Order: sequence, then C-alpha cells, then structure tokens
Amino acid sequence: MGGSAIVSNFLSTIMEEDLKSGKHSSIVTRFPPEPNGYLHIGHAKSICINFGLANYFGGRCHLRFDDTNPAKEEQEYIDSIKESVRWLGFDWGEHLHFASDNFEKFYQWAVFLIEQGKAYVEDLNAEQIRSYRGTLTEPGKESPYRDRSVEENLDLFSRMRDGEFPDGTRVLRARIDMASPNMNLRDPVLYRILHAPHPHVGDTWKIYPMYDFAHGQTDAIEGITHSICTLEFESHKPLYEWFLDNLPVPARPRQYEFARLNLTYTVMSKRKLQELVQLGIVSGWDDPRMPTIAGIKRRGYTPASVRAFCEQIGVGRSDSWIDVSILEECVRADLNESAPRVMGVLRPLKLVIDNYPVDLVEEHMAANHPQKPEMGSRTVHFSREIWIDADDFMEVPSKGFHRLTVGGEVKLRSSYIVKCTGVVKDEQGSLLELHGEYDPASREGIHTADGRKVKGVIHWVSVAHAVTAEVRLFDRLFSDPNPDRGGADYKQFLNPCSVEILPDCKLEARLANADVETRYQFERMGYFRQDPADSHQEKLVFNRIVTLRDVWAKK
Ligand code: ATP
Ligand code: MG
Repeated sequence: MGGSAIVSNFLSTIMEEDLKSGKHSSIVTRFPPEPNGYLHIGHAKSICINFGLANYFGGRCHLRFDDTNPAKEEQEYIDSIKESVRWLGFDWGEHLHFASDNFEKFYQWAVFLIEQGKAYVEDLNAEQIRSYRGTLTEPGKESPYRDRSVEENLDLFSRMRDGEFPDGTRVLRARIDMASPNMNLRDPVLYRILHAPHPHVGDTWKIYPMYDFAHGQTDAIEGITHSICTLEFESHKPLYEWFLDNLPVPARPRQYEFARLNLTYTVMSKRKLQELVQLGIVSGWDDPRMPTIAGIKRRGYTPASVRAFCEQIGVGRSDSWIDVSILEECVRADLNESAPRVMGVLRPLKLVIDNYPVDLVEEHMAANHPQKPEMGSRTVHFSREIWIDADDFMEVPSKGFHRLTVGGEVKLRSSYIVKCTGVVKDEQGSLLELHGEYDPASREGIHTADGRKVKGVIHWVSVAHAVTAEVRLFDRLFSDPNPDRGGADYKQFLNPCSVEILPDCKLEARLANADVETRYQFERMGYFRQDPADSHQEKLVFNRIVTLRDVWAKK
C-alpha cells in the first residue's frame, strides 16, 4: 500500500536512519484521534502516513483514542472512527488503545511530579490563570499557590481525585517556568476537575488529564518510536520532551511534525463539521457533501482513490491549500478504470419513433467499458418509445449544438440514428414529447444508410424497460475556495445549490438490482452509485459521486 510520496519523504528518511543506526529495531507509529467527532479527509492523510510508513518498514501502527475530555467524547465517535480507518484499508491488529487505559498511571506520574516539587495544585480560576500567563512579549506572573508544600499538594490532589471539589475550582499545574518564551512551558495545566462520565472508563474519575499530559506519556507506554503530528504541535514539543525527561517513562518516543491537509471549498475541523450537522445545514456526519470519511464513503468515493490522493499530495512541512479538484480527479481516475458503463436519463423527455413497429422490442449489445472488452457487454432493449435527456434536445439549437433538434439527426448510443420530426406541446407551450424516425440501416457506426455522418451521440433508455430512480447531484458545499480563511464565518459562503434532487430519472432496468458496492458510469453524466442509506425496495436512490470532467475548471 505504499505509493512513493507516502513512504519517501523526510519522515521515512528519519526512520531509515533510526533503523540503520540501531536506535530502533522496528518502527512503531500511532494514529491518535480524539473521539469528539467523525474523521475527515485531513485525518485520512494522517492515517495514510502513519499506517503507510509503519507497513512500509514492516513495523506496526496503533489506533489510539486520545480520550482525555469526556465532555466532548462519545461511543458513537469511537465506533465511526474505527469503521473509517478500516474502510481506508488499514488494520491496527491487536493494537487498539485508549489513552484512558493509562489514567491510573498518569495519576501516579502526577503524584511523582508533586513529590519532586514539579507540580502544584492551583486555586486561581481559569480567568486568573489566563491573566497571570503573560503574553508572547511579556513574561507570566507566578501564582501565589506555586510554592505550596508537597504535603498540601498531595492532599489537595487526592481530594480532587475523590471528587471533593466542584468542576473548575482547582487544577494541577506543572511547575516549570512562568517566564519561558514558550507559552506552553508557563506552568501548563496537567489535570482538571470534571464530574462527567467517560465513554470508555465510565465514572471512575472526577479529574481528567490534559491532552499534553497524556499524549507523550501514552506514546512512551505504547512504545511508539515516531510520534507524527501536525505542525500546530511544534510549539508543544518542548513540553512533550519535558514530561519524558521528568517522568520515569519506559521508552523515549520522539515527536515529528508535518503540514496538515487543507482542502479548498470545504472546512475541516471536527468542531465546524459538527456545527454543520447540528444546525441542520447537512443531513448528518455522513451527508455525501461532507468532507468526512463517512460522507465520502456514502457518496461513493473508493478507499483506493482516497489513498491515491494522499500519495499524490505527499508529506511536507509547509502549509498549503490543496485544490479539491485533485481529490476529485483521483476519484475519476479510479472509477474510470473500474466502473461499468450504463445509461441513465436524468431529465427524461419522451421520444416516440413513429416508423418503429409498435410491438417490436430489439436487444442491442452495449459494451460495459469502451476500452476493456474483458468487462463484457450487456443487452439494452430498444422499443418505439424511448427516454432521452431533455438537455440533449433544443428546439432552436444554439451554435455548436450537435445533439437533437427538430429536423436534425443524432446517434443513440449502441443503437440507431434517429431524426426528430416534430414536437408535441401542451396549452402552455411546454414540451410534452418528441416524435421522430429511425434509420434501420444505422445500427452500427455513426453513418446513415446513404453515408451521412452524424455528429452527436446521446444516451437513452426504452420507456417500457426503464426503472425510475431518484438521483442526487452534489456540488461543493461552499462557493468560496477558503470559506474559513482568517477566522471568517464560513457559513456565509455556503453554496445554495450544493445538492440537486432529480426525483424521476429513468435508468437501465439492471440498476434496480444494483449492488450497493458497484459504482457505475452513467454515460456522459458522471459516476454514480446507489445511496446505501436511503435506497430501499420502494425507492431507488443514486448519488452522483463525481462528474466526468472538472466542471469548476471553466467557472
Ligand atoms: P480537528 O481540529 O479536525 O478536530 P484534530 O487535530 O483536533 O482535528 P484529532 O482527533 O486530534 O483531530 O486528530 C488525530 C490526528 O489527525 C492528529 O495526529 C492530527 O494531527 C491529525 N490531523 C487532524 N487534522 C488533520 C489534517 N487536516 N491534515 C492532516 N492530519 C490531520
Ligand atoms: Mg481537535
């Protein structure tokens, strides 16, 4: 599973050297999500890097839940995260871990720091702690509680654990340096009081460790060799190392940072995605327009295309925006290879072929893939009444329109050339149906019997043989390439046309029995697959996964 960019970058160079020098005998990485939401495509990058590198070097990668904040974490998120990692094609084997499994150990290590005079119980409230902290240009101020005795600290900390004090009344802080130029070292909070049940360890605990106090220590306990995270943790690294230096940890992991994935026309923090769900802007975490793994999975993206995308964008150390069209192109490239072709009419307009016998039905053969004869062919039924797409007809053709017009001819894919002889309209002047004639000699190729060449080829389905389906066409959720740039309220950039529902589409009958895992190319319309959530016996629903071409490139 290793494309070159995932396993050939500054991280792989470091790993190679560490193996060569004997610093490590095997590579152990971890993917450490907090179960406070569903994973998104940015996490996919981290997953591909962590699992990809470990696999490449014959090591292992752990799935670890960084579950230190029960106020925001839920079992639903734990389940969905496991499913998403598996869907992407990765396997953590026996190494499913929870930071919370180490809560007792963390507690003992906090006690150890207190005993060493390196941690103290703080009585200032959150607001006061903030104002004592100083700024990037001014040093912080030491708390009046900083010099409490070890005994008093031990007593207060154990009473915090026992649940004696209400939320927010006290915290445990490391005693490092209030004047450090690195704000993270200005006596960071290690523990807070939180009377909340935890999704993994129940209500054992009334105090919970902060992320920074849990992360590196969990890495050490699990024997992680290379702790790979995104660049925003760079300034936390000295603290990560301070804990390792000052605690009796069993191993010495090292932190390395890479640039996070930013994708245009979307937002990618769990908090913002959750807001879209809660405000009902999308139908859920798995709305096919969402950049979540659950969303793109439901939409029909393949795991292979997401992995190919992560390989293509590579791993570096400078922040950049990746155009979402690159992801879409990876999806197209994968589906173009594998998707069987079918015909589906999204905006049906009836064409009655007046010179075709009323009761005749012919079976025409159509290739399932134009470049892959090994994918075989299928029969499509042809009869006197067919559906064509309303977009393929223009009564008054514009310049360069090569499809059907009154008096004009067009080739029906894998079938005859037809000519439109007239239109039927209702009293309001709306088009009801078209009438036409077929050329019996034109079944093969794009020439009529007398050698006239036809320019346009359109898709169609026989009225008597079609199934009806709802088809959902998706567009980008936001109309601005960087909807949350500079802290902007991204909701003002929502694309009002991000979904179009076409309730009465006509598809080849075989699609009634489509297997939900099969992605199809509806000829000329894009790649589609059945919606796994909303399709049932009475109603067939297809999602458009991606268009055939980048329709935004022209805009
Ligand atoms: P979010 O802000 O979306 O919640 P997070 O970083 O808080 O993201 P975590 O659950 O802590 O989410 O992330 C797990 C791992 O995924 C971390 O190692 C994190 O660095 C990585 N990660 C998160 N977002 C991205 C991204 N956009 N690109 C690459 N890696 C990411
Ligand atoms: Mg987060």
